[in-house]
Amino acid sequence: MGRYRIGIDLGGTNIAAGILDDSLSLIAKASVPTKAPRPAEEVCRDMADLCRRLCREAGGLSPEEDILSVGIGSPGIISGGVVLRADNLGFRNAPLVLLMSRLLGKPVTLRNDGNAAAYGELVAGCGQGCRSLVAVTLGTGVGGGIVLDGRILEGCAGGAGEVGHIITHAGGRRCACGKRGCLEAYCSATALIGSTIRAMENNPDSLLWEAARSTSLVNGKTAFDAMRLGDPVASAVVEEFILDLATGVSNLINLLQPEILCIGGGISREGETLLAPLRAKTAGLLCAPENSATRIVAASLGNDAGIIGAAAAGGLNAGDARHGDTMQGGFL
Ligand SMILES: [Zn+2]
Repeated sequence: MGRYRIGIDLGGTNIAAGILDDSLSLIAKASVPTKAPRPAEEVCRDMADLCRRLCREAGGLSPEEDILSVGIGSPGIISGGVVLRADNLGFRNAPLVLLMSRLLGKPVTLRNDGNAAAYGELVAGCGQGCRSLVAVTLGTGVGGGIVLDGRILEGCAGGAGEVGHIITHAGGRRCACGKRGCLEAYCSATALIGSTIRAMENNPDSLLWEAARSTSLVNGKTAFDAMRLGDPVASAVVEEFILDLATGVSNLINLLQPEILCIGGGISREGETLLAPLRAKTAGLLCAPENSATRIVAASLGNDAGIIGAAAAGGLNAGDARHGDTMQGGFL
């Protein structure tokens, strides 16, 4: 019986995969372009080829003898081993578990990518030793996932854990999901860039111009950089951003009280500049002082969280077997 697991992070742009040993260390990693939209059969063939390549690059592992299982993290709504819908991949009812287990002859599991990354942080990142974690990832959108008592919260039809679409501003800004007022419309890197550009246009003397040089060069770091230069306009942009994030975070903590709430994505590299005021503002919004037992920290695995979590979550949740997955003990 093998002792290695493969994790695949299937993204709209790249397919990244890695091999984990039994201490949850990534011993090999590789990626290929997704070339979406393509039929799921073609994407699965490339994923299977990537798995075989990884085995060779990891010192000649035998896929048959050394690999225990393959876990996939995919965007979209996932249930029963099937991607019901993933717009950025062009998938509708794509049976990835069936296709991949046929190609590889291995137990295959499929998770939502945000859920997989949250699980990765729990078992191998900022939540090691804990049993519950909520991840909030600030990127182009706001992603995330929820793990409670060591199990990924998937909901009754695969759609749970969409932390970016909790509504923090009823009737507010339009979100990419088509609704209004979602956390994502206020706290994604995209939203922060939009707020920064608006502040620049309204304040031609702001040091934001010095930090960015032009509105086309604004990124998620610009407002933080100008704040460090002492710019009050930038400070106001950052303060509003953090208050909006604290609103979402306090909702999640009041609802779930996880041991860890981790913030990921590029903006989390601001570290305590982001986290210290976020903790203070969140504390002011919690419904009970006991809820401050949740620790708010930065995610620690970066882009590897999805690969590690997908691999580690193989067969994790009870009941997966009835969806065609073969049960393999999860790491918790
Ligand atoms: Zn939304």
